[in-house]
Amino acid sequence: MTDNTKVIEIIKAMAGIIHENAQFLTDLDAPIGDNDHGINMDRGFRKVLEDLPGLEGKDIGAILKKVGMDLVSTVGGSSGPLYGTAFMKAGAVAAGKNEIDANDFIAIMDAALGGVQLRGKAEKGEKTMVDAMIPAIEAMKKGVEEGKAPGEFLKDGVAAAKEGVEYTKTIIATKGRASYVGERSIGHQDPGATSFTFVLEAIAAAY
Ligand code: ADP
Ligand code: MG
Repeated sequence: MTDNTKVIEIIKAMAGIIHENAQFLTDLDAPIGDNDHGINMDRGFRKVLEDLPGLEGKDIGAILKKVGMDLVSTVGGSSGPLYGTAFMKAGAVAAGKNEIDANDFIAIMDAALGGVQLRGKAEKGEKTMVDAMIPAIEAMKKGVEEGKAPGEFLKDGVAAAKEGVEYTKTIIATKGRASYVGERSIGHQDPGATSFTFVLEAIAAAY
């Protein structure tokens, strides 16, 4: 499905889509948070971009692990440790690999979700990034089992993540900063679920 060079290209694309949507993500965080999600994510991915040239030739696990470390150290807010842990756990699954197939990709995504849940303890329905991640991974698993090509199952994943984002509009936040506004969080989409969808779109765009 992908080799080291393509992984680096995809990470560049993630940084690009986060940068383009930084203001949008920050604005989403205004009514239910502290108005910084896009700023946080963009800061993190700028550091990732700076460090990418030094990762050429490294295995996929090492690349993902470094991305995670950069995000933990620079993103700040709750999303830094959450996304950071996701990439570090993803890196552990890909350790030593220079090529990953569709099944490896699913294992990587499962590990990323596991990292987010280990750190943040959020289940489905708490209005967090988990509400985009879980349906997206389920849809991609189904696609892989059906023998779909990456371009196809990734498209399914993005569609499911977007539905997850829509779902976050209908529920009350019970985790993270948005939980402080309680019922007033209804009607607003979750910034982290939205940024995850952009990250997945960056992966899908490579296929
Ligand atoms: P902060 O809330 O510290 O300002 P950000 O604004 O960067 O951090 O990120 C907010 C996003 O983090 C939320 O939209 C939500 O998706 C995600 N988030 C917050 N807490 C959790 C959690 N416990 N588990 C999963 N995701 C969470
Ligand atoms: Mg915030």
